[in-house]
Amino acid sequence: MLAQPITVIPRVGTRKAQLGAKLDLHTLRDVIFSFPRAYKDFTAVVSPDQAEAGMEGLFHGRIADLTERALFRNRRLIQARLLGTRQVLNLSWFTASYRRGFSYQYQQLSKADNLWVYGLVKSGLYGPEIVGGEFYTSMPKYRGLVPIYPLVAGITNRMRIEWIEFALKYLDQIQECLPEHLLDKFPGRQNALRAMHFPRNEIELAKARQRLVFEEFFLFQISLGTVISHRQESVRHQPDGPLTKQFFEGLPFRLTNGQVNAIADVRRDMESKQQMRRLIQGDVGSGKTVIAKYACLKAVDSGGQVAVMVPTEILARQMYDRMAADFEPLGVPTALLIGKTSAKQRQEIIRKAANQEVSVIVGTHALISERVEFKNLTLAVIDEQHRFGVRQRLALSDKGNTDLLVMSATPIPRSLALTLYGDLNISIIPDLPEGRKPIDTRLIHPRQRDDVYRFVVQRVKQGEQAFVVFPLVEESDKLDARAAIQEMENLSKQQLAQVRVGLVHGQMGKSKDQVMQDFYDGKLDVLISTTVIEVGMNVLTATVMVIENADRFGLAQLHQLRGRVGRAEKQAYCFLIADPKTELARQRLDIIRHTNDGLKIAEEDLKLRGPGDLLGTRQSGDPWFNLADLIRDQALLEQATQEARELIQADPGLEMHPALQAEIKRQQP
Ligand code: ADP
Ligand code: MG
Repeated sequence: MLAQPITVIPRVGTRKAQLGAKLDLHTLRDVIFSFPRAYKDFTAVVSPDQAEAGMEGLFHGRIADLTERALFRNRRLIQARLLGTRQVLNLSWFTASYRRGFSYQYQQLSKADNLWVYGLVKSGLYGPEIVGGEFYTSMPKYRGLVPIYPLVAGITNRMRIEWIEFALKYLDQIQECLPEHLLDKFPGRQNALRAMHFPRNEIELAKARQRLVFEEFFLFQISLGTVISHRQESVRHQPDGPLTKQFFEGLPFRLTNGQVNAIADVRRDMESKQQMRRLIQGDVGSGKTVIAKYACLKAVDSGGQVAVMVPTEILARQMYDRMAADFEPLGVPTALLIGKTSAKQRQEIIRKAANQEVSVIVGTHALISERVEFKNLTLAVIDEQHRFGVRQRLALSDKGNTDLLVMSATPIPRSLALTLYGDLNISIIPDLPEGRKPIDTRLIHPRQRDDVYRFVVQRVKQGEQAFVVFPLVEESDKLDARAAIQEMENLSKQQLAQVRVGLVHGQMGKSKDQVMQDFYDGKLDVLISTTVIEVGMNVLTATVMVIENADRFGLAQLHQLRGRVGRAEKQAYCFLIADPKTELARQRLDIIRHTNDGLKIAEEDLKLRGPGDLLGTRQSGDPWFNLADLIRDQALLEQATQEARELIQADPGLEMHPALQAEIKRQQP
């Protein structure tokens, strides 16, 4: 049953299923393994007397002074007060209504005497206030922690709760996959899964989460251990030949120490008889691509071919442009293979790969690994850029005895990386190239927004480019999404009217790629987007990054976004537009302002949030794990690694652990 598509859920037809697919929900199993991103705490009902800024909760009191005012067009402002005995909590809602007379919401509220309101308290002009709180005119039926799921337009949280309630009926079909002796330490799988969605309290949630995080790490380590435990032999590449020499001579800059060391590591690995499995880890902009280019040329020098795999089409194209620019003049035939490549061209490339008329193929992972047979593949390069999941990493082991070079910008401490990657060797590039000026990062009050955009226009007139990013709107509310798009359009027509602007947002479909490409090609001056712009975009003339409502992004994300600028000598700027209402929000933005080091940011962020903060929105944006957070969950990682090693040693083929074996198989494509 769990493999059934979500259309088996009542009221889910093909349309909803399509929307579900956007959330990676295809089967009932997916529904169960897609966890809430946060919870609403309905365990306690709080009096308005206790309300203070920064607090989030379910408030209950008598409602008074209800009013509704018409604003512009169809917009309305509803206001009311929730009465405590000593303090009043001000409530307001912005809403839209085309009907004459009062809005639907107002009518609901006007029938209420008592009101329950869930929301975040801010300090308003007239004391504590909640804007846009979720209200109930009778005591809400949920108690405990109520899940909040990731959404897309057309799917509401309420629907997702219905879906999970349905899917959980088949929970007994989920098998325990941890070995028995571990079950003294952790709750069983079924219990943990149920508790992730509907925890009775924070303790239960914490235990469930621990169990599932452990499981993620454990399965990850077991698969690495079973698949890659015996390192294979591979081609022994030749000492550096003419291509690599010419490449070094042509480099327009001096390599950093980190780059020199990484290159030495790669050289040693590639020349050895053992298969290279090396990870190059370095912050955005640290110059990992040079290492990849070196490795490619070294392979070609030795008579081999290379597959360069990149997570998205845009990135593939960029990587191709950058590689071809260096490789073609050296006479190294290089090709690009992406979804848009015409059938004819594709056949041509596949043919050339098979008889080695092409040496380097750059493309998306799927295309290359599924379609292309190389005559003499001796190196695979993977630019990970936060996107590849465990599955893809594992699929690589099929590539057999080619050397493997992975590039990653995920900031994790070295000790952790060692544990995590088991037998991947790691080279770290600790420093940015010399002369890189730190990005001038400023916190800007929304009142000064126009100044920022005046500055953007100025930079554009100097021939530079800029990004403007709006937070991904929780598209639960169509109104919100539309409002954001409207705001982007206004920006392009007003503040940025004098320059060439491209818009990219979640509801655009495929035409997004064209806009991004135009920006990359310099046909646009400013790229405004809601969805995260491609993580690896390398636009050298982009010098300004404006982030609207910056307090709504995670720190890792802000750091990644900022990394899109300042990739050349020119001074770059990052403007964080925000009016943080809480001390915590302010402190978090301060971290970004003062630090340019991704790892430090991750650590500071953790310190601020504290490892106990489970209810909050997941901010880490960790590429490999669904639930686990590498920094927060270090102890569990170590424990899982240890347990996995012992198990693999005792039972390398997993014959004694059929359920575990089945689970690992399921996770591999
Ligand atoms: P990332 O590590 O984020 O992939 P890239 O390899 O894309 O970084 O490098 C970012 C930019 O820095 C590129 O334009 C690249 O040409 C340049 N670069 C790389 N190494 C150096 C260096 N040693 N000195 C100066 N610029 C460099
Ligand atoms: Mg890169």
